[in-house]
Amino acid sequence: MKLTTIPQRLAADSFVIDEDESHITVDQELCRSTGTDKVLIAVCPAGVYQERDGQLTVDYAGCLECGTCFAVAAPGAIQWHYPRGGYGVNYREG
Ligand code: SF4
Repeated sequence: MKLTTIPQRLAADSFVIDEDESHITVDQELCRSTGTDKVLIAVCPAGVYQERDGQLTVDYAGCLECGTCFAVAAPGAIQWHYPRGGYGVNYREG
């Protein structure tokens, strides 16, 4: 059996990006005041959350739909749901 790394597996995935609607929105103030911003940056396996110029940015196009961010965020700090039908990640391995 051939072993593959996580980056190699992720590179095999494809994404259908919903250009009209993000399935993730953040409350900047609540994220900052609760420390959720730092937690999101640390836990997201896809690097969707980043900090730029003091603001939490969300590159939702690369979301793997694992739900981790929704599970760990302070209540109300983010809104998360699966992408609309036909959009999102398509896993090709596993
Ligand atoms: Fe990142 Fe997973 Fe949240 Fe998507 S669902 S933004 S991959 S932690």
